[in-house]
Amino acid sequence: MMRAVTLFAPANLSCVEAEVPKIKDSNEVLIKVKACGVCGSDIPRVMIKGAHKMPIIIGHEFSGEIVETGESVSSFKVLDQVTAMPLIPCGKCEFCQIGKYNLCDDYLYYGSRIPGAMAQYIVVKESNLLKLPKNVDYESAAMTDPVSVALHAIGKANINAGQSAIVFGLGAIGLIAIQWLKILGCSEVIAIDIFQEKLDLAEKLGVDLTINAKNNNVIEAIMDYTHNKGADIVIELAGNKITQLQAIQSASKMGRVIYCGISYDDLLLPSKEVNKILRGELFVIGSWNSSIAPLPVNEWKTSLDFMDKGKIKVKPLISHRVKLEDCKEVFEMMYYKKEIFNKVLFIPDL
Ligand SMILES: [Zn+2]
Ligand SMILES: [Zn+2]
Repeated sequence: MMRAVTLFAPANLSCVEAEVPKIKDSNEVLIKVKACGVCGSDIPRVMIKGAHKMPIIIGHEFSGEIVETGESVSSFKVLDQVTAMPLIPCGKCEFCQIGKYNLCDDYLYYGSRIPGAMAQYIVVKESNLLKLPKNVDYESAAMTDPVSVALHAIGKANINAGQSAIVFGLGAIGLIAIQWLKILGCSEVIAIDIFQEKLDLAEKLGVDLTINAKNNNVIEAIMDYTHNKGADIVIELAGNKITQLQAIQSASKMGRVIYCGISYDDLLLPSKEVNKILRGELFVIGSWNSSIAPLPVNEWKTSLDFMDKGKIKVKPLISHRVKLEDCKEVFEMMYYKKEIFNKVLFIPDL
């Protein structure tokens, strides 16, 4: 038997005894989970919306050690240290046929549609696995998903060296996005949030200007800093109607506004901003998940590579390491914002 964080209904979550999952297909492996992060999407999933199917073991950002392999598994063996892409594409729909698995019409997903990794063990398909490079430990590897999601969003920006960028919302993806923007050649990166602690961390990670939206006029501060031009690239990760509007207001002519934060608010787009989109020929772009196709660029491999070389830093983002047994309190803490948190990692061995 094992311990597993199970969602029974919205806001009804507990760590229960469950059977250790069994390998059913010969192309699967059994993994002993070493770390499983809480994704921004897990908080509303657990507290309000529920999952597609319940009860379900949640958790999709994880790493661990292979303890058993199915008969046809060829590229991985017992004791390999791995992380896994959480999406299983259908392979049949038209988006799968062109390799856009993140847009699949009929996918499965560990931790929301099939059993996840907030548990001691999980069974995963070989095709979803990646080996950890030498310098990437289990805790860092559990954050390959947000690193890849940030890379995917920034891939939509077509950055030219020397451009300026703004990131709205300093959750894990935001704090990683600022690092990618710098790596890919942005000369000025501005970070915006309402928590000073997160802004301070962004500063340590290399942003050029932080703006605390709680006590500053965000647009005025941006226009001041950019000599009334606005920024070439704007990444919206907060997912609320205020920052979604500010994202358009703070873009330069021909600027690229990338929406990546899941939205729970209706956005009213005033004519002034619509006209700004027209007259400034803005690009308003959506970004969803990350590319898990092996070619031409595997965002997951790239993410692991940059973590391996120490260029993307995720360790400073870990604010909490928690036990599976404390799941209820942990999700309440996050939902009611009782503490300031960045990445919360469940560690099954704690
Ligand atoms: Zn996630
Ligand atoms: Zn598909």
